[in-house]
Amino acid sequence: MKMPRKLVIIGGGVAGTSAALQARKVDRDAEITLINREKHPEYSRCGLPHLISGIISKPESLIVHSQAALEQMMKIKLLLETEAVKIDMNEKIVTAKNVRTNRQTQHPFDSLVLATGAKPSTPPIEGLNGKSGVYKLRTLEDAFEIAEAARASRSAAILGGSLIGMELAEALTRLGLKVTLIHRSSEILSPMLDPDMGRLVRLKAEDEGVKFMLETTILKVAGERKIEAVETANGEILPVDMLIITTGTDPDVDLAVRSGLKIGRNRGIVVDSRMCAGVEGVYAAGDCVEYQDAVSGEPSLIQLGTVAVRMGRVAGANAAGAHEIMPPLAGTTTANLFGLEIGSVGLTMRDIQRRGLPPPKFGKASTLTKPEYYPGGKPITMKVLVNPESLKIMGGQAVGGENVAQRINVLALAIQQNLKIDALMKLETCYAPSVAPIWDPLILSAENAYRKLKFE
Ligand SMILES: Cc1cc2nc3c(=O)[nH]c(=O)nc-3n(C[C@H](O)[C@H](O)[C@H](O)COP(=O)(O)OP(=O)(O)OC[C@H]3O[C@@H](n4cnc5c(N)ncnc54)[C@H](O)[C@@H]3O)c2cc1C
Repeated sequence: MKMPRKLVIIGGGVAGTSAALQARKVDRDAEITLINREKHPEYSRCGLPHLISGIISKPESLIVHSQAALEQMMKIKLLLETEAVKIDMNEKIVTAKNVRTNRQTQHPFDSLVLATGAKPSTPPIEGLNGKSGVYKLRTLEDAFEIAEAARASRSAAILGGSLIGMELAEALTRLGLKVTLIHRSSEILSPMLDPDMGRLVRLKAEDEGVKFMLETTILKVAGERKIEAVETANGEILPVDMLIITTGTDPDVDLAVRSGLKIGRNRGIVVDSRMCAGVEGVYAAGDCVEYQDAVSGEPSLIQLGTVAVRMGRVAGANAAGAHEIMPPLAGTTTANLFGLEIGSVGLTMRDIQRRGLPPPKFGKASTLTKPEYYPGGKPITMKVLVNPESLKIMGGQAVGGENVAQRINVLALAIQQNLKIDALMKLETCYAPSVAPIWDPLILSAENAYRKLKFE
C-alpha cells in the first residue's frame, strides 16, 4: 500500500495556510502539518490598522480559517505556538518547539514549505532599548498594544511614511491623537508612488491634521522608562506619548539560513518558478522569498498579501505533486488613505532609476470619474510610465476618485502581458454617465504618454 505523502509547512500566515489548503486540493490523502509560532490561526494582517482605528471591532473577524475548520474540514494538523527550530535536510525531519512549554517534537517530511514571513526592521535609534511607549505593527498582539496605548495617549510620532505608516497615521488621527509622521525621503509613500503622486496624498492627510517631517529621521528618544520625546536628525525635539516604527520589514530567513538554503541579494530566499528553494522537495513562499518582477525581470522583494497567497498556492500544489508555475510579479497595491483611493503597479520612477533601466516617458491625466455634467464624479489623477525603447508599460499609479483598484488591475494585465502603450490606449472601456466617463483616466494618461513618446 502506498504511504501517504508527509507535507510539513512552516509558518501559518497567508502564504503557509494557502499552501496547506492548496496541497489538500491536490492530494486528498497527504498528511499535512502546519507549524505556526503565533497563537492564532491565519488572520488578515492587512486588517490590523482598521482594528486599531475601530472600523473593525471584533479581532476574531480577522481570522480567516478557524483551527476547527482547518483540522476538521481540511484535515490539516495545525500546531500553534510552535516554532520550527531545525530542519535536517538529509534525514528530512523538522524539529519544532512549543514556545510555552519548550517541549520538542519531530516532524518527518517528504516535502516541505517554508512560509516564515517577515519581521519589522529596527533602525539604529539612541535610547530606544527597554523604553515603553515604542511599538511596531506586525501581529494581532502588536495591534492590541497599539490600540490600548492610543487610548491613553494624546500624541504619537510615526517613523516611516510607507503604506503601514500612513494607515496608522489615519487610524490614530481618527482616534483623536495629534500625529507627526517622520519620513526619510522627500515625499511619503515613496515605495509605491512617485513624489508628484505621493504629494497629493500628503496634502489630504495634512488637511486632516497630520503633521509631516520629511527628509529626516529619528536619531534619539528621550524619557526615563517611557518615551517622552523624539529627536530628529535636524535637531528638532518633538514631545510625544508614543512612537510607532514602520520603517519596513526584513524577510524572516533565520531558519532558512541555518538550513543552508540560498539567500539572494534582497535578503529573501531564492526560489525558481515552481517556488522550489533549491533543494528537491523544499519550497518557499510569501514575504520570506524574493522573486522576479515583471518589468525588470530582476529578483525583488514584493511583500504583499496578494503575492503571498498566490505564491503559497503554487508552493503548496507543487509540494503535493503538481507542476504549477508562479508568473513574474506586477506588484499591484491599493489602499484608501484619508478617503483617497490610491493604487500602484510595476515600478516607480525611483525603482526604474535604481535598476538602471531606460528613463521612462510618463503620461498623466487629472480628471473626474464620471462625465462633468453628472453629479458625484470624483477627481482622480492617473500616471502611466512607459519604456521609451520597447514602448512597454513599466508602471502606473492612481490617486483619488473611485474604482482605483480596477484601473490598476488593468495596468497589471498590460504589464503581465507585455502590452505596448498603443494597445493600452486603444482599450475599449465601458461608459455610462452614472458609472464611468467615455474617456477613462487610464486611457487619457496612456494617450498623454504616447504623445510624448511620439512628439518629444
Ligand atoms: C499592518 C499591515 C498591513 C498590510 N496591508 C496590506 C494590504 O493592504 N495589502 C497587501 O497586499 N498586503 C498588506 N500587508 C502585507 C501582507 O500582510 C503580507 O505580505 C502577508 O501577510 C505575508 O504573508 P506571509 O504568510 O508570507 O507572512 P506572515 O504573514 O508574516 O506569516 C508568517 C508566519 O510564520 C511564522 N513563523 C516564522 N518563523 C517561524 C518558525 N520558525 N516556526 C513557526 N512559525 C514561524 C510567523 O510567526 C508568522 O505567523 C500588510 C502588512 C501589515 C503588517
